[in-house]
Amino acid sequence: MKKLFFLLLTLLVTSVMFSQSGKELLTLDNYLIPKNKKGAVIGKVIVPKGEKVSLVKDNSKLFTIDKQGNISLKKDAAINDSSPYRYEITLKTKDGEKSFELVKDDFIRNKVIAHRGAWKNHSASQNSLKALKKAIETGCEGSEFDVWLSSDNKVVLSHDPTIGGKTVEETTAAELFTIELKDGDHLPSLEEYIKCIKEQNKTRLVLEVKTSRMGKARSEAVADSCVQIVHRMKAQAWTDYITFSFDAAKRIRELDPTAKVLYLEADKSIEEVKEAKMSGIDYHYSNFLKDTELVNKAKAAGLLTNAWTVNKEEDMKTMLRQGLDYITTDEPELLMKIIANLK
Ligand code: MG
Repeated sequence: MKKLFFLLLTLLVTSVMFSQSGKELLTLDNYLIPKNKKGAVIGKVIVPKGEKVSLVKDNSKLFTIDKQGNISLKKDAAINDSSPYRYEITLKTKDGEKSFELVKDDFIRNKVIAHRGAWKNHSASQNSLKALKKAIETGCEGSEFDVWLSSDNKVVLSHDPTIGGKTVEETTAAELFTIELKDGDHLPSLEEYIKCIKEQNKTRLVLEVKTSRMGKARSEAVADSCVQIVHRMKAQAWTDYITFSFDAAKRIRELDPTAKVLYLEADKSIEEVKEAKMSGIDYHYSNFLKDTELVNKAKAAGLLTNAWTVNKEEDMKTMLRQGLDYITTDEPELLMKIIANLK
């Protein structure tokens, strides 16, 4: 009876959350500023045709917007190695004002995605702040992590549905945050992870929205909350999304038409993934071993490719030979060594 009450309460809260959101958010098609390029075009604001958008705040005075919604550096303005890396701008549309951060492009592009952070060789817990910091220190292109909604709708990190003897979706965030991880770490919130990643501009986040055990609406609600937090914290430049839930993937795409969203479950054709406007496929590496043309098929469809979880040297080399865009591994140090030796 108690469980039924809890489930009904969750469904009610979820439906209230839904009615409050679900609207496509204002986005740019790029948030990265190229270095040493005077007057470079950075990104276009995605707004319905005919709607006006203006730049109402830019403390740096470096940026300008044209009638088509293209944001550029001013004609004689450029940023270089000694420039700061974060620039906040505020845009105004008929729906109101929204702020964004444009980020100097020093991001690493070495294909290496640390799976749940770099934990294995560092006595860190998976999905901990230490594991994220180690992934950054190691020089990974991205650091992957997993999130759920707590019973009180906070986005929290855990790979498994249960952690420290508690079921994540049935426990409040306050209770979950008391769970101790290795080396004095605690179970982190999405906000803590974003705050940490924004302290630098070399490594990105790969945010996995977990499939809720409470059904489709709850999986979509996790997606909703993640996208809202990323936008509120102006972290679009640092964040890509992955998920096994096709519902959650479609939901992220609905809310954010320009976010990078890769689908994890190899149960759809390339055409179906493309049709759903996903950015790419992120499959178990055995799928790429079985179908050696998969990378080429995805590329021909304009889709990005990522393989998980590639931990053996031989498989890493095969994935590199096949030309995948990213390789997710528990051994980022090993993959980096292999890549360095290939050069
Ligand atoms: Mg994951």
